[in-house]
Amino acid sequence: MLQDLRTPIDMYVSSPFTSSKTLPSFLLLVSLATSGCAQNRTTEQGEAQITDPFQECIPYSYEPVNAAINNFPGIWETATILANDTAAAAKYQSIIGQIPDIQPKGTEPASSTGDFNGYNYPSSDPDCWWTDTGCTTPKHAGLAADIVSLPEPDSLGYGFDDGPNCSHNVFYDYLAQKNQKATFYYIGSNVMDFPLEAQRALADGHEICVHTWSHPYMTSLQNEQVFAEFWYGEMQAIKLVVGVTPTCWRPPFGDVDDRVRAFAQALGLRAILWQYDSNDWSEGSDGVTSAQIDANYQNLINLADNGTFSSAGTIMLTHELNNFTMSEAMKFHDQLQTAFKYLVPVGVAYNQTQPYVETNYSLPTFEQYISGVTTVSGASNGTAQSNSTTSSASPSSTGQSSIGSGSSSSGSGSSSSGSRAVNSPNGARTALLGIGMLSATARWLFL
Ligand SMILES: [Zn+2]
Repeated sequence: MLQDLRTPIDMYVSSPFTSSKTLPSFLLLVSLATSGCAQNRTTEQGEAQITDPFQECIPYSYEPVNAAINNFPGIWETATILANDTAAAAKYQSIIGQIPDIQPKGTEPASSTGDFNGYNYPSSDPDCWWTDTGCTTPKHAGLAADIVSLPEPDSLGYGFDDGPNCSHNVFYDYLAQKNQKATFYYIGSNVMDFPLEAQRALADGHEICVHTWSHPYMTSLQNEQVFAEFWYGEMQAIKLVVGVTPTCWRPPFGDVDDRVRAFAQALGLRAILWQYDSNDWSEGSDGVTSAQIDANYQNLINLADNGTFSSAGTIMLTHELNNFTMSEAMKFHDQLQTAFKYLVPVGVAYNQTQPYVETNYSLPTFEQYISGVTTVSGASNGTAQSNSTTSSASPSSTGQSSIGSGSSSSGSGSSSSGSRAVNSPNGARTALLGIGMLSATARWLFL
């Protein structure tokens, strides 16, 4: 039986997140009024030093995005191929012949919010539709299976969905302090709104995967929309802002079938799903308490302690969606580390040493990573630097082992202790609008 999968995340992702292009004038006034302190909001390094959630989430203008904004769908709008985008149209035509003839799931508009009730889908699951059956091994020939686990024992694919979050600096400072790298599944619309935050992931040596342009239920979309959600989210937004083209993606809500897989594969993207779900996004909705999310983390820790992953590692779904989800990640990092031994980006676990189409950036192998070499080469700030130096250096015991890296901003200017909470973009936005100020403030105090 299919469930109504609508969640509060829908509200989050469908909100018209303020882009610099449409910035209301009163927010500009707020921005001007609060920009008295010395801040450089034009570079990744400058932006990374802002740790006040209010300041971080005030929209800013970034010229490369401004210059290209008309070449993109509307922020948070379901993508489709733009008129006059001949490159996108040509690419679409070149791959459409490889796509199985599978109809969109459900009926619009309900299906676009994850409501597939009443949709008559055969129980034989002919399309390997994860949302209905949890299927991750395609039924159609020639499609790679989804990644849901890790080949390395005692390892956890450490990663976070839905970023870049406008106030993620405290969280990223924490990860830098721990010399912990992760896989970040970025939404194209967030990348355009918070480009300097997106750049920080690369500068800090994390792995970036695609999480589509507007976070839709992908199986509900028409073919051109499926293509465009990948095209603009991946090849355009992340390439424009960060300077790399990812080779991995995660379906929003896990909603994938063989048609969507075929598009992703034709565009060079490996699908990464999960085996365990923290359900961290659901805290505060429908009576879900933080204690329940704690329990979900604890359950995974208990399984690791019991040797469940002694022959193969696993992946859990977690988010950088808001204050709570990032705080939970920091709260449980050390316990996960102890229970699993190895918290690694998914690409590292698979020895995916070239994570992007561009060849000037490398990830360490799994063996390098667990011996302390967590960064081997990189470029930062969206520029295509060519300073890559693949390391063969001996393992460091200090945990500070950025070798030949172009990154520079990790933790700089930060006083992160892991105890300071970070804020959700929703919270900051409502606070800026003068609504919900108390609840937002209370969160920072108590989380
Ligand atoms: Zn998501």
